[in-house]
Amino acid sequence: MASPTHSTDLDAAAVVGRLRRTFTTHRTASPEWRRGQLTALRTLLTDHRDELLRALADDLGKGPEEAYRTEIGFTLHEIDHTLDRLDGWLAPRPAELPERLLPATAHTVREPLGVVLVIAPWNYPLQLALAPLVGALAAGNCAVVKPSELAPATSAAIARLLPRYLDGDAVAVVEGAVPETTALLAERFDHIFYTGNGTVGRIVLAAAAPHLTPVTLELGGKSPVVLDPGTDLAAAARRLVAGKFLNAGQTCVAPDYVLAIGDTAREIEPHLVAAVRETYGDDPAAADEYGRIVNTRHFDRLTALLDSGRTVIGGAHDRATRYLAPTILADVDPDAPVMREEIFGPVLPIVPVPDLDAAIAFINERDKPLALYAFTASEDTKRRLLAETSSGALTFGLPVAHLTAPGLPFGGVGESGMGRYHGEYSLDTFSHTKAVLDKPLA
Ligand code: NAD
Repeated sequence: MASPTHSTDLDAAAVVGRLRRTFTTHRTASPEWRRGQLTALRTLLTDHRDELLRALADDLGKGPEEAYRTEIGFTLHEIDHTLDRLDGWLAPRPAELPERLLPATAHTVREPLGVVLVIAPWNYPLQLALAPLVGALAAGNCAVVKPSELAPATSAAIARLLPRYLDGDAVAVVEGAVPETTALLAERFDHIFYTGNGTVGRIVLAAAAPHLTPVTLELGGKSPVVLDPGTDLAAAARRLVAGKFLNAGQTCVAPDYVLAIGDTAREIEPHLVAAVRETYGDDPAAADEYGRIVNTRHFDRLTALLDSGRTVIGGAHDRATRYLAPTILADVDPDAPVMREEIFGPVLPIVPVPDLDAAIAFINERDKPLALYAFTASEDTKRRLLAETSSGALTFGLPVAHLTAPGLPFGGVGESGMGRYHGEYSLDTFSHTKAVLDKPLA
């Protein structure tokens, strides 16, 4: 009997074969084709805005403002940024030559890789399927998109809409779960772009190895926040709450926990309470813009973490609607259950530490995070965090925001992933930079 992980009707070889035949025509390499696809993707997002917002509400209870901003608007911005700059990015770049090779000329060009695979997770199910696709198309590739089965309404919308707008012989959507992804991963791709957890990241990397396929892994982990004495705690609390409880905490770069130096651990508490009330009212369950936990497995995992500290605010939950209130836990022990895994939900532990040395040691004893945040008024603290820690990104004063800047690379380091994308970094990820040298024979 076939193993359940392989029980699928998907003919992955046929899907990839069809795209590969298209790629060999060189049609997708032309700048006109790339622009056409990006423009069509733009039209899809504006034509079907309401349908997509409904799917995101069905899957994650996302409010329309947040869903538009973080999923549709985000992707439109990425498309516009790319369309505005694509000609410059694709222009040959002159390269310097050593004198002994002269007379000669040299330059680099970015060429498409071929057929790429994009595997997306459920938490930003539209953005994380389409933003990598923007890079793949801008670089002139054919692409298979595998949306997450845990966001079924968005997955279905992507599968229904993409073929209506994009070149059907160059872009394919494969819906499904482990069997389908396993079947796809048996094929040879020219790049695999995976967003999700590190366990599956390892499966992807192992599947890519026999084909020597380059891989981008956009993973997660615990992103710490350092709270330094002397900072404006009211402002810090508002920004922490905005970053943490976005999408009910199910954001890869959400602040995972606060390393509160000295008295800030106690002093920030009333400000966090005020910020939660200001943002979500007295009953967040009734707030338009507060999401729900993706499924009961994650809901049960998260509610099991609620005893990890003293509840400052929140804790209310309802399994039937998968509602978990924005929750702040204080006096959390570094070994408490909530500190042993990425939280990926609306629970924010405050871990007191005596000083900056202790905060830096705490960070460096653990996996390199996808993001490190700090609220500090001290240039010396900033300098030390920059020099003495390693993370995918380091942001002072505004958690999560770096990922909305297409001029910045987005990606992890160590356990939080490998590779980077957004803007020109996406073009690099999905292109090969080819060296070209031309020396006259005489
Ligand atoms: P998920 O369960 O939706 O899985 C991601 C993808 O992997 C899905 O398409 C799924 O079908 C596929 N998959 C699952 N099991 C597989 C297997 N055994 N073999 C092959 N494919 C398989 O999402 P998730 O992993 O729960 O996502 C949450 C994690 O992703 C968190 O750790 C989060 O921090 C991280 N994340 C990172 C980023 C980033 O940009 N760095 C963004 C979002 C989420």
